[in-house]
Parts: sequence; C-alpha cells; structure tokens
Amino acid sequence: METKTFGVDERGYFGKFGGAFIPEMLYPNIEELKNRYLEIMYEESFQEEFHQLLKDYVGRPTPLYFAKRLSEKHGTKIYLKREDLCHTGAHKVNNTLGQILLAKRLGKKKIIAETGAGQHGVATATVCALMGMECIVYMGAVDIQRQRPNVERMKMLGAEVRPATSGSQTLKDATNEAMRHWINNPSDTHYIIGSVVGPHPYPDMVSRFHSVISEEIQVQLMEKEGRYHPDYVIACVGGGSNAIGAYYQYLDDERVKLIGAEAAGFGVDSGKSAATTILGREGVLHGSKTILMQTPDGQVVEPHSISAGLDYPGIGPVHAHLYDVGRATFYPITDDEAMAAGFELSEIEGIIPAIETAHAFAVLDKMDFKENEIVVINCSGRGDKDLNTYIQYREEKGL
Ligand SMILES: *Cc1c(COP(=O)(O)O)cnc(C)c1O
Repeated sequence: METKTFGVDERGYFGKFGGAFIPEMLYPNIEELKNRYLEIMYEESFQEEFHQLLKDYVGRPTPLYFAKRLSEKHGTKIYLKREDLCHTGAHKVNNTLGQILLAKRLGKKKIIAETGAGQHGVATATVCALMGMECIVYMGAVDIQRQRPNVERMKMLGAEVRPATSGSQTLKDATNEAMRHWINNPSDTHYIIGSVVGPHPYPDMVSRFHSVISEEIQVQLMEKEGRYHPDYVIACVGGGSNAIGAYYQYLDDERVKLIGAEAAGFGVDSGKSAATTILGREGVLHGSKTILMQTPDGQVVEPHSISAGLDYPGIGPVHAHLYDVGRATFYPITDDEAMAAGFELSEIEGIIPAIETAHAFAVLDKMDFKENEIVVINCSGRGDKDLNTYIQYREEKGL
C-alpha cells in the first residue's frame, strides 16, 4: 500500500516540513540519490536481495509477541513487535542494509556514517563487513569515551572510528563532520544516515526501508486477531525511524492511533530534556526543515536524555508533519519513567529493553485503554548495551 496523505511530495516535503537545505557542494550527491532511489529500491533484483538478507541475515520477520502479563496489568491486549531480536539488537539494521545495497548499485566504494551511542555505527559497520566496503564512522569524542563497547565492536567489524572534536563532541557534531566529509568526497562515497532525518530523499528512503516493520505487523495481526489493524501503535521517537516503520502501513488508516514517546530527560521544564515537539519550533536542522529545540536566536539547544538514541534536538520532518496535523500524539517521558518501565518489562515479561525502547513502554501508564483494544508497541531494541546505565541507576537511586 502506498501512503498518499502522509507521503513525501515531489519537492521532498511532508506538509511544510522536509526539503533539502544543503550546501551547493552536496547537490550532485543528493540529486543522484533523489533521482535514482525509488527506481533502484523497487527493482526486482534489489527487492530479492534485500528481502533474502532481511530473512537470513537480520532474522526477519521478527515475532509479534502477545505480552500476557503486561496486557493483564493494563487491561487490554498488548503485542510487542520484537525488533530487539534483529541482528545487532535493534531495528537500525533494516535501514543500513537497504542503504548499502543502494550504495553498491550507485557504484559507491566507501561508506561514511555518524553515530551517537554507537548503535547506528555498529549497524553500518556490520553491513560494510557483509558487503566488503570501506567504512568510516564519525562519533563525538565524548561519546567515544562513554560508549566504549560499541567503539570496539565497530573496530572489530573493520570500521575506522573518527572522533568529532567540535562543539559538545556528541551526535550533532559527528553529523556535521560526516556531512563535511561527504562534501569533500562526493563521487565515491555514500553517507548512510541512521534515522528519518537529513535532506530529502533520506527521510522518505529510510522510512521505506523500515516499512517492513508494519508490513509484518499487518500479516501477523491477521493471523492472531483476524484483522490487519491495531487500535494503537506506540513507539519511541529519537529521529523517528523505528516509529515511522511501525506506523507506515497505517498512516492513512485513521482507526489506528499513532503514539510517539519523546525523551523528556529530567522533565520538560528542567532545561535538561529532549522533548522536541513540546520544546521545539520550526527551523532547519541537518538539511531539512523540521521542529527542533533552539534558543530565541536560533542556536540549537543541547538536548538531554538518559538514552543516547533519543538524545537529539530535532525529529524527522515526517514526524513534525504528523504532529503538526494531529495525526500522531507525542508523550514526553522522563528518564525516571523510562527506567521504571524498563525494569518492569524485564521483571514481568523477561525482556530487557533498550532504554530508548523503555520510553515507549512508559507511555502505557499514561493511557486509558478499553478492554480488548489491540495495542502494538514497537520493541525497537534490546538492553544489553544499556546494562551499565541500568546498574548505575539502581545504585544511585538505592533500588
Ligand atoms: C537508535 C535507536 C532509537 C532511536 O532512533 P529512531 O530513529 O527514533 O528509531 C530507538 N530505539 C533503539 C533501540 C535505538 O537503537
């Protein structure tokens, strides 16, 4: 099913958000991508290779698991879409796999990427190893210190990790440096962006690679419930790639309520937050017009979240649009609420979620479900990478 109302238009916009705000030096790259991505992605041989690898390498379809004890607690039917069971531990590999197949067909020889917590870097380094392509990952120098296991993983997978030493030395600085690299090496390099952000066509392209999530949910719900659509789809939103993947097939189906969980950090009024739709306003970030947290004179505000994957001052333009027209509802979830939800899911379902993912589960307590409503939560990733944060949190809080 092609989405009509909420799909991107020919100019690369979702409503008033999106577009491609890029330096002139990037035009050739972005033009090439824009002109060819759909044709390449929907070639039969591309689809065959992509789906074969999604099956045999990534481990798709991921299960749709009926969470019995969680359902009992909330008095409704809750299903988890188990993206945490994907190879490398999260949904991100759906996109990196899609993009590397595309890069190959564009004749590119090298891959660059940016990473915050290192999850996108690992997913990119993984597919580069799979395809035998050179891989450079930009990462904030501070993040390199904080996320040592993922840095070591990337190196083991054969990638070069380059520190970004400007600004706060975190994700947005790594993104700036990756863009700079691309400008200087336009013809032989493809930049794998890790979420539904960046200039057109990235948000649309990345959405399409993740749309396999909602395609599978439809088939699996039909098997289990005799209907394709749930009443709710809930997902956490950093840039918004796992969320849009879970929403994609339901965008035009108003029976399905689309819910996003944003990281509120210490609280929306604390000055240490990443609740973009509440705190942000229109502006341009990383090549597209969207909603972002900024000072009155337009400086990007440093975000905070306990989860590195949600610690981003903007959201993808498609989500800015869904928010703007009221198609999706976003809830701010504090660090404490997310951690509580993470501990609870571990104890009552035996699933330790990524802390990003735990934000989506924390939404459950804010909702009023009817009996027998069908709720799908996108379980975007597993918590192995977050074990230290969970341990530290427990110690600090004396839990
Ligand atoms: C990176 C990440 C996210 C946030 O990215 P989106 O593009 O918003 O999906 C969420 N969950 C997990 C497990 C992640 O690794």
